[in-house]
Amino acid sequence: MEITEVRVSLHNGDGKRLKAYVTVTFDNCFVVRNIKIIEGNNGLFVAMPARKMKQFCSRCGKKTDVGVRYCSSCGVQLPPPPRDVAQDKTGTHQDLAHPITQEFRDYLQKKVLDAYYKEKEVQSSKKSFDSQTTTGF
Ligand SMILES: [Zn+2]
Repeated sequence: MEITEVRVSLHNGDGKRLKAYVTVTFDNCFVVRNIKIIEGNNGLFVAMPARKMKQFCSRCGKKTDVGVRYCSSCGVQLPPPPRDVAQDKTGTHQDLAHPITQEFRDYLQKKVLDAYYKEKEVQSSKKSFDSQTTTGF
């Protein structure tokens, strides 16, 4: 499987952890949107599209987020999340699409970050071109 297109839309704003949204095309026939580039403590990483996991309240049956302590509808105390979910901070989110092998994960991350840096370069060269034309001579 090959990545045939990576489209990056930069998410500008200083101090924000979310740097860009990315759309990736695989083999010219499969598209995954809503991939994010996030600045973590150890540099940039690629976050796959995810959704919050839900659980059902045992008393009223309403859907609530996994990890909350009380039902937002009836206020009953909910059972704690399973151990592995509680220990892993990202455990309350579930990836909707993601690579299975480490090899493909690395490949995807590299392609996405390459496209991100390229896009940033394009944007900053546009900016410096603008400032040259407005401040020059
Ligand atoms: Zn409830």
